[in-house]
Amino acid sequence: MKDTFKHQGMRQQLVETLVKKGIKDQNVLAAIGKIPRHLFMDSGFIDHAYQDKAFPIAADQTISQPYTVAFQSELMEVKRGDKVLEIGTGSGYQTAVLLELGAKVFSIERQQELFKKTSKFLPKIGYRAKKLIFGDGYKGFEEEAPFKSIIVTAGAPFVPNPLLSQLEIGGRLVIPVGDAIQIMTLFIRKGPKEFEKHELGEFRFVPLLEDKN
Ligand code: SAH
Repeated sequence: MKDTFKHQGMRQQLVETLVKKGIKDQNVLAAIGKIPRHLFMDSGFIDHAYQDKAFPIAADQTISQPYTVAFQSELMEVKRGDKVLEIGTGSGYQTAVLLELGAKVFSIERQQELFKKTSKFLPKIGYRAKKLIFGDGYKGFEEEAPFKSIIVTAGAPFVPNPLLSQLEIGGRLVIPVGDAIQIMTLFIRKGPKEFEKHELGEFRFVPLLEDKN
């Protein structure tokens, strides 16, 4: 569990790659420049940690591509102190980015193995979410609603209503919608029943699953 000068150098190159691909938010870039992504991956993949690629983690899931993490984080427009909800904790990398941005993070994971692993790992490297939840992200997290922003990090076949209703007015939901390929979609809540919708290009995610296994 080391973070060396070599890792830091590779991370800066990754940040430059993300800038070239169009990421502008300086806080997001600083977070990615700071977080030791290699520690979130299984040892066999550590050499790949600073390529702009998704990689396998446990339980047939993936750590999202850095560009995707940056793109979604930028759309959330996180300000320090924002209460945010993440669906799909996975490796905890996106969670760490949100914590670096100063958010109070609630994050839900449906795979028990990942939930347990990441619940142990994040505090070990100094990242403390408000709460990591073992449960079904389709339901959101009513007891802490409303949220300033919500991010879904798995491909959703449809937009779950609880996620829209758990946004505060002015709040933002960033969700990839679709089956084989997803369209990154941003909803901004303009009023109790009013949502503005923006579609922002194609991405590929592992599926947001409904049944517990
Ligand atoms: N944010 C993660 C991405 C992990 S991939 C990271 O940075 O590593 C998507 C994650 O969503 C997987 O861990 C998967 O188990 C989880 N997931 C899928 N369906 C879910 C659901 N209904 N509720 C909560 N998590 C879910």
